[in-house]
Amino acid sequence: MFYTSTRDTSVKVTAAEAITNGISKEGGLYVPCEIPSVNREFLVQLAQLDYIGRAKAILSLYLTDFTDAELDYCVGGAYKEGKFSSPEVAPTVELEHGVSILELWHGPTCAFKDMALQLLPYLLTTSAKKTADGKQIVILVATSGDTGKAALEGFKDVENTNVLVFYPNDGVSAMQKLQMCTQEGANVSVCAIQGNFDDAQTSVKEIFTSDAVKAKLAEHNMMFSSANSINWGRLVPQIVYYFSTYCDLLNQRKIELGEKINVVVPTGNFGNILAAYYAREMGLPIKKLVCASNANNVLTEFIESGFYNKDRDFYTTISPSMDILVSSNLERLLFHLSGENDVFVKDCMQSLFKDGHYTVDKSVYEGIRGIFEGGYCDDDATKATIGKLFKEKNYLCDTHTAVAVTVYENYLKKTGDDTICVIASTASPYKFSPAVLEAVGSKDAVGDDGFEMMQSLHTITGVPIPEPLAAIQNKPVRFDKLAQRNEMTDVVLDMLGIR
Ligand SMILES: *Cc1c(COP(=O)(O)O)cnc(C)c1O
Repeated sequence: MFYTSTRDTSVKVTAAEAITNGISKEGGLYVPCEIPSVNREFLVQLAQLDYIGRAKAILSLYLTDFTDAELDYCVGGAYKEGKFSSPEVAPTVELEHGVSILELWHGPTCAFKDMALQLLPYLLTTSAKKTADGKQIVILVATSGDTGKAALEGFKDVENTNVLVFYPNDGVSAMQKLQMCTQEGANVSVCAIQGNFDDAQTSVKEIFTSDAVKAKLAEHNMMFSSANSINWGRLVPQIVYYFSTYCDLLNQRKIELGEKINVVVPTGNFGNILAAYYAREMGLPIKKLVCASNANNVLTEFIESGFYNKDRDFYTTISPSMDILVSSNLERLLFHLSGENDVFVKDCMQSLFKDGHYTVDKSVYEGIRGIFEGGYCDDDATKATIGKLFKEKNYLCDTHTAVAVTVYENYLKKTGDDTICVIASTASPYKFSPAVLEAVGSKDAVGDDGFEMMQSLHTITGVPIPEPLAAIQNKPVRFDKLAQRNEMTDVVLDMLGIR
């Protein structure tokens, strides 16, 4: 199996090269040249395996340049007992008849990013052994919260890697900041920067592509790679849990073999839902993919009209991981739905960059309409859903998941499509305690002591506080550096000890 680029189909690389490089040199994203397909017998076999077995079976279809032993090492390490608080890793829990929740937040940082970022370090170091002749891999991350912590936790003490995280000083929640600044591990560094997330992201990109910095790294036998969701190594682990949830529904006798399900995903950068699209293309019986957004509803409009327009108001919401106007992974969908038309994709991305918008042609639009539904809701509706689910179903969910549930309920009302449905749940409610506390009707949701709020939420709901979040209270702060943007290059070199 080879991979090509969404912007240049003459590119042909192995999985290991795609994962080590992160992004293709002309700026396109790596995509599989052919999407592998599976049959019903495969699903029957898969349903008998545990999560590690399921992950290996799916990954082996995509990472054909990895040996059997390498795959065992990678998935065995990522999902081994004790790393996730649920023995099933990503359990499928029934909410009500016909609707189940796929809980993706039982990992060490309590957000769904762990599903991929626990595995990526193994995939990356194994890939680098094949392609980067023993170079030390330096992972640079600009984060608005969840990705930074998940990358730190995934890469901590992984041999031959360094992970450096920059976050906007005023742009992350108190809990997210604490999670990062108390991070353990000998190969990790964290630094706040003066500015917002876009400033952090722009500076990181500049450093990432600076020839001077790259040369300096090369002198010390180091190279940059990326841990954000444009890396194929982050996408492929996410395909696994859509197969896994289907197997769970089969084993729970909620569906018959071959029966189609709907899947609802709270969406930001379009990575999670794109993984569901790949699963569907591989033959997993999925009818509709429902793309749920918050007030930043650029994707809802796109799915309804074929018009993508990032020139619009940006809203800061209580589901911050979905506050995004440029969904990078959509580029991969455009590539597949346009019949792998690299020129078309390049044109779309160019006009997005130049004019802030693009429109797809009729055939791509029809392709999207056949598979996707879009919907969005605001913060009030999100909170109302959290309160209602807790009161009526005794199920406590976070703000991102509540967006998905709300959008699903609206979809059901509008279409009457009561196909068995799985809703992806992307974070523990304790990661967003202030909003969740308010939603379940507490008057204590003021002040900013994250730990007190977690405690109040626990007292009111009885839902256990995840151990990794509770443990932070007793951990020393290791990183308290605040840098200006123009100091970041020096900070990177200092962190690596090569200035
Ligand atoms: C990252 C994230 C999302 C969005 O996922 P995408 O793959 O970027 O669409 C949703 N919810 C939470 C909690 C997240 O951390």
